Amino acid sequence: MSYDDEALGDIERSLSYLINQSPVEVYAIALDLLRDPRKPLPREIANGMERIARIAGRNSLRDPPLGVWTTGMHIKQDDYIRFTDYHLWCRIRLAQFLATADLIKKTGDEWIWYNTRCGVCPLTPTSIVVPTAALGAGKRPATWWVTYWEKVVALVGECPSEDPFTDGHIWDSTLRGLAKECPTCHETAAKEFPHFKDKLVNMITDIIDGVRMPFDDLPDLSKG
Ligand SMILES: [Zn+2]
Repeated sequence: MSYDDEALGDIERSLSYLINQSPVEVYAIALDLLRDPRKPLPREIANGMERIARIAGRNSLRDPPLGVWTTGMHIKQDDYIRFTDYHLWCRIRLAQFLATADLIKKTGDEWIWYNTRCGVCPLTPTSIVVPTAALGAGKRPATWWVTYWEKVVALVGECPSEDPFTDGHIWDSTLRGLAKECPTCHETAAKEFPHFKDKLVNMITDIIDGVRMPFDDLPDLSKG
């Protein structure tokens, strides 16, 4: 291992360390190293940098939407514009998915929120146009579910990631409210939601992974 390779290994470790904290900066540095034609990276380091850029790009989706590029930023303007395009595409694809996804159970009893017969939870009035397919075309979801869904969909619109479904805050407060209002639905919803969430999160992960990163079209400059 040459001195340069060792230094690159150190940089790789530092970038990995900062990957959650400063994803945009980490992404920019990894990208610069990846495509510097004067210094082709050894294959192993190039693979590591690409992995880091990919994770950093993914992590950046959890943060508030990117603003406009300014001169003080540690990322080139062109790269930043391509990066904001990536964010935009993730938002568009997820919005399309959440508006059209068929999240109705195919077999067995329907999810409790689409099919409660508790007689306690108010149902969405038929006069209301149910805004997304995920709320169940032709169904009358419980209004607590519609409230939950609208909140997470709004968050996904800001930060296109699995987080609004996985971090649990909104769901936890939904469940707490339900525990007071309707013990029947509360118990079943608490049991069913983890299964629903796992399916949904897997689908969301596939969609985001399907959006090409801006560097996916770069020529391979690594050596070896
Ligand atoms: Zn109920």
